Amino acid sequence: MTKEPTVLLAPGVWRIPLIGDFVNGFMLRDEDGQVTLIDMGIARSGPKVMAALASIGSGPSDVTRLMLTHAHPDHAGGAKHVADATGREFGVHEADAEFVRTGLGPPRDRNIPLGRLFAKLPSKFPAAPVGETFTDNQVIPFAGGIRVIHTPGHSPGHASYLHEGSGVLITGDAIFNVRGLRWPIKAFCTDFTMTTQTAHRLAEVDYTTAAFTHGPELTDNPREHIRKFLSAHGAR
Ligand SMILES: [Zn+2]
Repeated sequence: MTKEPTVLLAPGVWRIPLIGDFVNGFMLRDEDGQVTLIDMGIARSGPKVMAALASIGSGPSDVTRLMLTHAHPDHAGGAKHVADATGREFGVHEADAEFVRTGLGPPRDRNIPLGRLFAKLPSKFPAAPVGETFTDNQVIPFAGGIRVIHTPGHSPGHASYLHEGSGVLITGDAIFNVRGLRWPIKAFCTDFTMTTQTAHRLAEVDYTTAAFTHGPELTDNPREHIRKFLSAHGAR
């Protein structure tokens, strides 16, 4: 399990292990020192994100962009803390924006028995400010461009992010890499079947590192691993 505050994925791109390798955030720094932070872990991860920022010699005023892959408590939980610490608002896909603003997570899949059970327990986290909302295929002008790949299913506005400058793909919860590639927990998806359909988008784009919000990165031919996983387990 990773104990370091950051793991370097590519020049200017770091993974932030927030609960060991099981819950990750990400940090990108442009040549002019501007920093983008992606995913903030659970509520108590906020200070860890800020500590990771300090560990690369940057401070709160260097952070010019905050982003979330989706509005679940283990990604958006620390968002309010980081928004307060940096004075910035979050960018998130438009279909998850309201969940971030209210701190109330998206609905769970009612076709899954456990989803019906969990639906009675609200998925809550501290509400955080949202500024820009993203649409599919939008390229965010930061350090070579970050492409928004809408991969709905896990949540309505779930997005994966491809940093085109470094070739690092941030899958979000479209696919986990916890003891091997696997689907996210069915009961926490808004529409599990859709998750297994939209993940195919990750086989269609180019990258040299696949970075996961749950689990360590793949650096050796990651697209082939993901393609194999999708052809064995994906739906069309
Ligand atoms: Zn999630």
